[in-house]
Amino acid sequence: MLDTDFFRRWMTAVAASVEREASHLTELDSAIGDADHGSNLQRGFTAVTAVLEKDAPATPGAVLTLAGRQLISTVGGASGPLYGTLLRRTGKALGDAEEVTRDQLAQAFAAGVAAVGQLGGSQAGDKTMLDALLPAAEALAGSFEGAARAARAGAEATVPLQARKGRASYLGERSIGHQDPGATSSALLVEALAATADGAGA
Ligand code: ADP
Ligand code: MG
Repeated sequence: MLDTDFFRRWMTAVAASVEREASHLTELDSAIGDADHGSNLQRGFTAVTAVLEKDAPATPGAVLTLAGRQLISTVGGASGPLYGTLLRRTGKALGDAEEVTRDQLAQAFAAGVAAVGQLGGSQAGDKTMLDALLPAAEALAGSFEGAARAARAGAEATVPLQARKGRASYLGERSIGHQDPGATSSALLVEALAATADGAGA
């Protein structure tokens, strides 16, 4: 079972990973965007860890909804509302259970990912974070490790795609040949989940 502390540790692990990879994310965003993805997420997840420490939410769902709200209010770029919606909707789908199974998380996460597609008007193959999140949500029904692998493979598979959503779409064919920054950070999010599960023996 995954308890409240597990979800807090997941968010802390994402913050650490974003911190480590911030310059890489910004580099990817400088090729097909406006070079702020690393700093956007760094600001957002630093605020997330701070508010989780301050407010100490009592359930897994409350951890994710609070984290999502914090991302929406601190990240200016497109990725703030998109990641915020992912976490808020996932949290809402978990309800007020004190512990959840991986299977319940997989279902809730799939609902969160669907909400990202609705908000962004985006779908698989548009060269966005969804290209990592959709396969990850599907694989999470099987295992944490499988979800991490699927997210990473999905992010790498954005390289040959032409962007159809977000800033990168303004580049048209020139967006081809670069890995999408949001798909890359989404892989970090799912890899942090798998690492947290591994540490917890889940
Ligand atoms: P901005 O584009 O406002 O500078 P960021 O650089 O933080 O915001 O985030 C860019 C990432 O957001 C992209 O790499 C892409 O993955 C994701 N993104 C942008 N628009 C959309 C959308 N409509 N649907 C899904 N993801 C999107
Ligand atoms: Mg940007």
